[in-house]
Amino acid sequence: MADKKPKMKLAVLTSGGDSAGMNAVVRAVVKAAILKGCETYVVREGYEGLVRGNSDECKTEKVSGSKGQEDSLLNNLRFGDGELLKDGTSDHPTGRTLRGRYIVRVGWDDVRGWFAQGGTLIGTARSMTFKTVEGRLNAAHNLIKEGIDAIAVCGGDGSLTGADVFRAEWPKLVSDLQAQGRITAEQAKQHGHLKIVGMVGSIDNDMSMTDMTIGAPTALHRICEAIDNIDSTASSHSRAFVLEVMGRHCGWLALMGGVSGGADYILLPERPPTVDSWEDQMCDLIKGHRDAGKRKSIVIVAEGAHDKNLKPIHADYVKDVLTERLGLDTRVTTLGHTQRGGRPCAMDRILPTLQGVEAVDALLDATPDTPSYMIGIQNGRIVRVPLMEAVKMTHSVAEAIKVKDFDKAMSLRDPEFVEALEGFKATSVLEKEPKLAHHLRMRVAIMHIGAPAGGMNAATRTAVRYCIRQGHKPFAIHNGFPGLLDDDINQLSWLGVDNWMTRGGSELGTNRKLPDIDLGGVAAKFQQYKFNALIMIGGFEAYKALSILEQARKHYPAFHVPMVHLPATISNNVPMTEFSLGSDTSLNALVDACDAIKQSASASRNRVFVVEVQGGKCGYLATMGALATGACIVYTPERGITLDMLRNDVKYLKKRYSLDIKGKNEGRIVLKNETASEVYSLEVITKMFKEEGGKMFDSRSASLGHTLQGGIPSPTDRARAVRLALKCMSFMEHHHQLLLKQPGNLKKANVDSAAVITIQGSGVIFVPATEMQEHADTANRRGTQEGWAKVADLVEDLVARKQILEKE
Ligand code: ATP
Repeated sequence: MADKKPKMKLAVLTSGGDSAGMNAVVRAVVKAAILKGCETYVVREGYEGLVRGNSDECKTEKVSGSKGQEDSLLNNLRFGDGELLKDGTSDHPTGRTLRGRYIVRVGWDDVRGWFAQGGTLIGTARSMTFKTVEGRLNAAHNLIKEGIDAIAVCGGDGSLTGADVFRAEWPKLVSDLQAQGRITAEQAKQHGHLKIVGMVGSIDNDMSMTDMTIGAPTALHRICEAIDNIDSTASSHSRAFVLEVMGRHCGWLALMGGVSGGADYILLPERPPTVDSWEDQMCDLIKGHRDAGKRKSIVIVAEGAHDKNLKPIHADYVKDVLTERLGLDTRVTTLGHTQRGGRPCAMDRILPTLQGVEAVDALLDATPDTPSYMIGIQNGRIVRVPLMEAVKMTHSVAEAIKVKDFDKAMSLRDPEFVEALEGFKATSVLEKEPKLAHHLRMRVAIMHIGAPAGGMNAATRTAVRYCIRQGHKPFAIHNGFPGLLDDDINQLSWLGVDNWMTRGGSELGTNRKLPDIDLGGVAAKFQQYKFNALIMIGGFEAYKALSILEQARKHYPAFHVPMVHLPATISNNVPMTEFSLGSDTSLNALVDACDAIKQSASASRNRVFVVEVQGGKCGYLATMGALATGACIVYTPERGITLDMLRNDVKYLKKRYSLDIKGKNEGRIVLKNETASEVYSLEVITKMFKEEGGKMFDSRSASLGHTLQGGIPSPTDRARAVRLALKCMSFMEHHHQLLLKQPGNLKKANVDSAAVITIQGSGVIFVPATEMQEHADTANRRGTQEGWAKVADLVEDLVARKQILEKE
């Protein structure tokens, strides 16, 4: 039977500097497009590949598909049989060995497992030829020859501009090609309009109108790893290190590296020091830190850093200043291309996947009248924004810097950037004098509750440093409420928490016990220590503790103080917040483990790995982990597991393995939340798959258990910890000051002053404990609504579960 006519022939390319996550984009675009009935191509070596096209001897084969199948997905299943990367070999994108095919037809399995790899597997280039009309004419010709008139481009602002120029010029290129007799009138008619969509691949996070560019989170991982490694040697030798990181016009990497690496001083292009001599300022500050007992000093310099007069600041100069003025043994480390490389972190798998899916929809929706869109992320949502508007706004940052309008440059960055800079100052600088007047100062109790989660210590460090800066006294309550009752309490110091940014686990010790073990006793301790504020960092128990304390205000005046719960739990099950501290760290631990597990399959035989993950009664970790690892099945407590589901899953796996290339060992991941079913346990499911797989596939189990809790916190969790802890502190200051205004000794705290800090979109919202109750499913210890739940459908879509199951 003949193939169905594809809805659209679409090509995806990567261009400009490479970044982690580009492969995830290509994978998602190819898969989503095939699912929507499109025919998919990749263009190797960016625009250069478009210009060169396919030489006549190496024409792209037409799709034959399996006989008798008209299902476009199955026809597309393994087109190319993995030859994609072997064909038309090249040592270098612009090198002499380039030959053969550049516009390559790809199928479903060609992009399998791609997102675990860094860089871009289809190659990228900077093409001077594409910048010429002649080059673009050839590019148009090459596309039309293949019947393609839709392209998805992943690259920086230059690449996206190139795509827009190409689109605008397309009608003229088509008529020129027809006039030159290179295409027929019918081809000209058929391909009168070029559809384009852009996605931003850039490690600098330098594009306006999107909160995060593809590759920036991974680059930040590399920077933090470097800082963490340098930290120990710097401390051992009492050295100073100057780290140069990428970012010509954008200081995001330097700033976030500084925040999450606990640096002493940072130099950014968009906010140079305002003082006349930044050298004096830096030395003064670092000397203060040394005088306080610090044995290491870290300065981060963005590649494009300069002083307020635009005089470039180089790392070597910073080193000379520190050596000469402070006599510090100073070394320079330029991270360079290590920042681009390496395996993508979880976020650089999830976000590009979501963006790739949206990009295909944008192409399918495109008409000659719709603007060219760029797919971005705003407030945690995937959005389409007018591409050239974003490019223009991006350029205006560089222009503002050029004319020394640094306020404007900062205003063009998103609000989180500005907040992060404030956060850096608040947590890195040891002020000579506290900022607040005596009567406004508080005694702040800090407690960890529930299981440890990455970022708990970073949040505590932030709160402590902020307290000291303001003149508050920060008290560590060790081991939760039992520790409070046992007087396991001490005051924390600026230096004492210095290394806590990078530490996993809980430095304070944590405990699940709630205050109702002895409410009267807890209130007495509040009185004894004269606490004016309480911050509880933890999971669902911390929320419950907050509710109990708030309720108990009726009986105990000591609880009439501001109290905040900062969610920190790998389960991410606290109601109303999209992210808890620790959830990103554990997602990354999960991705690392699954990559390693999957690799072992290729060395053995076809194997299904059933991987059990934590998460309590919340399927967040399993679901997002499935999206980040390309797992083919996910079991969550929300959906549960039934025998019918298992029967279908076995059917799916058998069908799926039967479609694989013979002789190639394939590993597949099934992710199961620890509480998804009481009956169908990890062992039962693994045995069932093994039994049913017969000769086709084997099955093994792995339980990741507590590995997901430990480890060094991810940069995202550290940065979130700083942002949220600072907001908690100013929230408590605000409510403390309201209490101070009340006459008399018996103060009555406002009901809003006991709240949970939540992330909703990019906004941070304090939700009063009383209001949280209606959003909490207390029996299941999770929220009543879980925004991420629909991702489970996407996980199934991206393994074509429905289509494979429906095929007899
Ligand atoms: P990075 O952020 O890594 O520099 P980029 O996409 O901005 O990535 P560029 O070198 O500016 O990198 O652009 C990549 C390619 O896009 C260029 O080599 C060129 O082929 C194409 N391109 C850029 N600008 C234009 C333009 N104005 N017209 C046509 N093509 C362009």
